[in-house]
Amino acid sequence: MKKEKAVVVFSGGQDSTTCLFWAKKHFAEVEAVTFDYNQRHRLEIDVAASIAKELNVPHTVLDMSLLNQLAPNALTRSDIAIEQKEGQLPSTFVDGRNLLFLSFAAVLAKQKGARHLVTGVCETDFSGYPDCRDVFIKSLNVTLNLAMDYEFVIHTPLMWLNKAETWKLADELGALEFVRDKTLTCYNGIIADGCGECPACVLRKRGFEQYMSQLPTT
Ligand code: ZN
Repeated sequence: MKKEKAVVVFSGGQDSTTCLFWAKKHFAEVEAVTFDYNQRHRLEIDVAASIAKELNVPHTVLDMSLLNQLAPNALTRSDIAIEQKEGQLPSTFVDGRNLLFLSFAAVLAKQKGARHLVTGVCETDFSGYPDCRDVFIKSLNVTLNLAMDYEFVIHTPLMWLNKAETWKLADELGALEFVRDKTLTCYNGIIADGCGECPACVLRKRGFEQYMSQLPTT
């Protein structure tokens, strides 16, 4: 893969930033694409842009405001609480998000002569998002190839990792400090360690502590 080009679906969070480092290691050329869907925290887009700039990665921001129009949810509307009711998808789930993001990323990638797409979706810490499942990604890969008569390969380096293993991967890529200090995962829009209380912060923190506790003490 070393001579080829990849496009990373990039939100500026822990997972997609780890994927960006992973892509930089495995591909000769890497670009990033961020989707603007009027997310609750505009800061997300600024964080993504500044990380891409720091890592010297060409960055495209695509307007996906129609997603907000179609699917109001807790990530796009501040008056919808972040919660998960028994037997329902979490209120942070956006119908069609990964389907649309990956499809638009594929159109962009083809224009840019890239056939590799990288996304940080993960089935392990499965919050009930159907479009993070491996079976969906494989199905979409086939669909995209048929739709555009092109040989895309969708890479999901985090698919089977838990949060501790995602921190381990960042560490192996020499990016632990970078990911810890510069990414935005928190639903309350606080960079790095975040608010510490929202579901995203709890998951991130638990994984970090678990990974650090496994390291041999020197
Ligand atoms: Zn938080």
